[in-house]
Amino acid sequence: MIVPDVETWEYLVDDQASEDHRKAGIRAVQSTPLMSRDGRIIGVISTHWRNPYDPEESALRLMDILARQVADLIERNKAEETLREADRRKNEFIAILAHELRNPLSPIQNALEIIRYSKSTVDDVQAATAMMERQIGHVVRLVDDLLDMSRISRGKVELRKERLDLALVLQRAVEAIQTQLKSKELQLALTLPLDPIYLNADSVRLGQVVINLLNNACKFTDNGGSVWLTAEIENGSDQVLIKVRDTGIGIDPSEIQRIFEMFTQVEGPMQRTQGGLGIGLALTKKLVELHGGELHARSDGSGKGSEFVVRLPILTDRSGPPGEPVESEPTAVILRRVLVVDDNTDSAESLSMLLRMAGSETYTAHDGLEAINAAATLRPDVVLMDIGLPKMNGYDAARRIREQPGVSK
Ligand code: ADP
Repeated sequence: MIVPDVETWEYLVDDQASEDHRKAGIRAVQSTPLMSRDGRIIGVISTHWRNPYDPEESALRLMDILARQVADLIERNKAEETLREADRRKNEFIAILAHELRNPLSPIQNALEIIRYSKSTVDDVQAATAMMERQIGHVVRLVDDLLDMSRISRGKVELRKERLDLALVLQRAVEAIQTQLKSKELQLALTLPLDPIYLNADSVRLGQVVINLLNNACKFTDNGGSVWLTAEIENGSDQVLIKVRDTGIGIDPSEIQRIFEMFTQVEGPMQRTQGGLGIGLALTKKLVELHGGELHARSDGSGKGSEFVVRLPILTDRSGPPGEPVESEPTAVILRRVLVVDDNTDSAESLSMLLRMAGSETYTAHDGLEAINAAATLRPDVVLMDIGLPKMNGYDAARRIREQPGVSK
């Protein structure tokens, strides 16, 4: 934009702007927008003159070149800043991850010593075993979240959608967090509409979404607080709102968007002591989005509790057959001859020990080729096969075993 004389330029005359220019001693202005490569305006370079002036063509061309270079420089700096920030967050994440994985190992080591110690009583051993179970559960959850997150970022998570009764999913989620509720003496109220709500969803993944939100509600609420889990149809729509509300520490409004980013934890004295990797909400949001839904958070601020709202499309056809498979009690089957194949020797040995205790005759193999040979000579009823194996992977080994004479296809 070129204004050769602010005194005579029609858009400025009688305007406060021209008064401002006069005060500043400006008579002519030239402005060149700084455009990003994808066409956004990211800034402006302006030149001001004390006298009326109409810059010639060559000066304007020079301005254009300068503007291009400046815009590129700004964009490059921004990109570098983003990379530096991502790198910083990843480093911080690795430190937290190491810490979170290391933490449960000390009690596990202690518990092992207690079990091994000859003077331990039966009660001691039981307490130590319970301790190990809790701590190992913690590590398993962390690692499962990490694996899920990396699968989702690589687009490798497939939903097993089926017709689901939402009430069942919510009730199961509530059962799953009973221990957390009890240990912090939290009250939980579950409210469901009278009519059943059906969704086309993956019951395990949807359960994971609700459990993650309930877990956070427990984690960030002081002892004796309350948690509400409600489901309601959004007014006149085909959407259900699943809300998890708590009376906990709340979230500062400026942090609300950030908490859904990977590796983000709001800094605060309470959070630091809560553990966690800051990937739970990122994962939960992705899982909701895979279901065609949305996840939002609300909070009136620090100390005022939080509310997380999942919005999901529902199935409007209520008459269809219930897709929820009727769960039959699992029947115990004793497998007679079992071949366990795993390159992790401890995994193979421990699983085979458990099976032996349950009455099976067990054998182990530790790579694909060994598995094929063992299957040929031992003729097991069942092979429990790991997938990633040395020499030949589990899929190929299983295929070759199926080709052996007398093996049912
Ligand atoms: P993590 O729980 O492992 O820290 P999440 O991704 O689940 O990771 O949560 C990210 C952050 O969001 C938490 O560290 C916490 O600061 C905040 N947050 C999540 N849920 C709540 C809640 N119910 N109340 C207050 N803050 C919460």
